[in-house]
Amino acid sequence: MISLQNISKQFGRFKVLTDVSFSCNKGECIALIGPNGSGKTTIIKSILGMVIPDSGTITFRGKSIANDYNYRSDIGYMPQMGRYPENMSIGQVLGMMKDIRKIPENLLDEDLIKSFGINKLLDKRMGTLSGGTRQKVSACLAFMFGSQALIMDEPSAGLDPVSSEILREKILIEKEKSKLVIITSHVLSELDDLITEVIYMQDGRMLFQKSLHALRKDTGEEKLSRAIARVMRQQDESDGLQEARVNTSELRN
Ligand code: ADP
Ligand code: MG
Repeated sequence: MISLQNISKQFGRFKVLTDVSFSCNKGECIALIGPNGSGKTTIIKSILGMVIPDSGTITFRGKSIANDYNYRSDIGYMPQMGRYPENMSIGQVLGMMKDIRKIPENLLDEDLIKSFGINKLLDKRMGTLSGGTRQKVSACLAFMFGSQALIMDEPSAGLDPVSSEILREKILIEKEKSKLVIITSHVLSELDDLITEVIYMQDGRMLFQKSLHALRKDTGEEKLSRAIARVMRQQDESDGLQEARVNTSELRN
């Protein structure tokens, strides 16, 4: 459904993404993980056309997204930091988005609005909201238009545990409908039982893309956080081994 081929991006002299390629299909729930600053948000923004890569191609449903904005209506996006007109009320923001998207009222998905209790807060101005409530509004908007692909950037950052669980259950329901879900998170524990695949980023490069099943099998670890830790250790060890080989061959020469 979404495919990246050899995507690179530089901000000034700083390389943020180097030759990133991966594909993801509908029905999958993909965890895009990696340390802070490894390029996760830049990848997501590139998929959404908010960042234009220096090189490489991104396709959505087989078509390049370059110079074509229509594909975006099929992606529900929850940004890491939602920015809204501070003077508008929650109700006005929701109304404005409905006007822009022009989707019949009966096709709107307002489940999260109900379960987060947003209906009671419609008159509150965006500028007065706590970070968590702002996140809830972002989540409501991401799911509201029934998009076939859902991209969420650190969705549970700032959410209280009950709201996190509500969001998690909603993600599971949508995943069962064969949608594509991409989630970035640095809290690995909340991704267990949710995801089918892992893409691991480091310093702007993709280190691996693996199914959760393969990751568990390869590492013998059930928990995602432990499995990732083990892969990283293996990586360090093989790097160390390679260095040792280089050093010994240098000694011989
Ligand atoms: P992550 O989401 O994995 O934490 P980001 O994709 O947000 O990482 O950022 C990757 C790196 O790119 C960071 O070092 C960040 O400071 C830098 N970066 C992101 N956006 C910009 C920008 N618009 N201009 C300059 N540097 C940027
Ligand atoms: Mg980020």
